[in-house]
Amino acid sequence: MSYDTENIFAKILRGEIPCHKVYEDDDAIVFMDVMPQAPGHALVVPKAASRNMLDADPTTLAALAALVQKVARGAIAAFDADGLTILQFNEPAGGQTVFHLHIHVIPRQDGTPLRPHSGQMEDPEVLKANAEKLRAAIHI
Ligand code: AMP
Repeated sequence: MSYDTENIFAKILRGEIPCHKVYEDDDAIVFMDVMPQAPGHALVVPKAASRNMLDADPTTLAALAALVQKVARGAIAAFDADGLTILQFNEPAGGQTVFHLHIHVIPRQDGTPLRPHSGQMEDPEVLKANAEKLRAAIHI
């Protein structure tokens, strides 16, 4: 269970493949999930390399939690959400499909069920618009 530098989020972090970026600083990046489980589904990704929660540095986790809270507050405002689901998967048995630590921030509306995890690709124009909405609502 070692870190694979060719995972897709590592490629995004190196700028080798594009993403619908919401926010970036020295320690983390936030971008839209391409297969959102609800409109506005974003991923908060630390830049430090770890597979998941199990091998992450606790200092990285602490900083990540603070950023997740800021993104969560922004997501509520940006998508007029009634609530939020925050998810994090560890290893294939835990449902993880991309092996670089990340936290899912998913705005929720009362009575609307979550779409499947890693389900259908969203229209890039929708992702772009949602990235802009979320960016405007995050106060760092
Ligand atoms: P998991 O590793 O199970 O926490 O899930 C990985 C998440 O990344 C899924 O929700 C996918 O829809 C999402 N995903 C996969 N590839 C990309 C990509 N290139 N850009 C943005 N999101 C992605």
